[in-house]
Amino acid sequence: MNRLYARLLAAYGPQGWWPAESPFEVMVGAILTQNTTWVQVIRAIDRLRDEALLAPTALLDLSVDALAERIRPAGYPNVKARRLQALCQWLVRSGGLPALAECATDTLRADLLAVHGVGPETADSILLYALARPVFVIDAYTRRILSRCGHIGGREPYETLRREVESNLRTADPVADYNELHALIVQHGKIACRPRPRCEACILRTDCAAAREDQRHG
Ligand code: SF4
Repeated sequence: MNRLYARLLAAYGPQGWWPAESPFEVMVGAILTQNTTWVQVIRAIDRLRDEALLAPTALLDLSVDALAERIRPAGYPNVKARRLQALCQWLVRSGGLPALAECATDTLRADLLAVHGVGPETADSILLYALARPVFVIDAYTRRILSRCGHIGGREPYETLRREVESNLRTADPVADYNELHALIVQHGKIACRPRPRCEACILRTDCAAAREDQRHG
């Protein structure tokens, strides 16, 4: 895993994730990015920012319909409006970001997973990128690239994969390295290891099981 990380970092450089101005904005983005592209998320977040609505109480003061209207660019507006408000309720009930800083990571993770509309990927994105906790985020890019390269089978349950990556990446600074590796994996999945992979020019080609297999049959 460290070799893959080093190669991706050498190729793409530091990604500077998460692209947000505050931890709360990361949380909002983690909900809005469900089943949509980041470009659409940015349009929705910009709308909220323009109206000074990027705060838990401001979002809770809106009706579901009013919030849905503002986040419409990110898709599934009614579903995501309810999920955003559920997250805000949890945040307010918990005492806000300073109170969360006092909580153990396992407790926070369990609490987040109990919030309406928050699954493992969303919870872990919030833990890592908003709350700086050492939790790796597994997403579709991670499954695709790590399975093609032969590091995983690809169909393992979320928790199995998360533990697999966390235990195979040697690091003295897990928060920084999980942050960077996940961002690099997303970048590689967009540029080279797309659904239809561009193996010819891929920087992981010499280490990749799928590319080797392809060569054997090609
Ligand atoms: S060689 Fe091909 S399959 Fe392997 S990581 Fe690169 S693009 Fe993906």
